[in-house]
Amino acid sequence: MENECPDCSAKLAINQTECSYCGAVRQNADEALLLELMNVLRKYETARARGNKLVMESLLADGYESVEIGYGEEERFDRQKTIEIAGGDKDFLSIGIIGEELLERTSETAKMACALTTISSGTISSEPYFARAKVSFVCREGHWQIAAEHLVITDKNGQEL
Ligand SMILES: [Zn+2]
Repeated sequence: MENECPDCSAKLAINQTECSYCGAVRQNADEALLLELMNVLRKYETARARGNKLVMESLLADGYESVEIGYGEEERFDRQKTIEIAGGDKDFLSIGIIGEELLERTSETAKMACALTTISSGTISSEPYFARAKVSFVCREGHWQIAAEHLVITDKNGQEL
């Protein structure tokens, strides 16, 4: 099997993923999909923290539902409720996604796992929010939307709270 640079067509060694000539990096399909899903998730979580409901509506699939587990409780939210209660964090700074892993994919669905960190300036004592997440996606007309989220609230070491 030939391995050719997608950008400059240089012949590369069979296992080479970065072109020695032009520096282009070839991603496999799973890596490219995972980046795309992370982008959708980052956009969504940012919109949620800021209460940008129009963006949320475009990124949440019909029938979306989430489960949030923490402090001995389990809360479930549907799409309407999620959009309704979003926002209000005036001190929101950023979303971090780490440890991302693609769990499943078909042509129209995908599922990823990751750890989410939400950082807010707030008061000096305010701690970042940490969660272990499993997020399911569905592809609608070429765009990935979030179909379901399963969140476990943790401390900064990943221990369930
Ligand atoms: Zn090249």
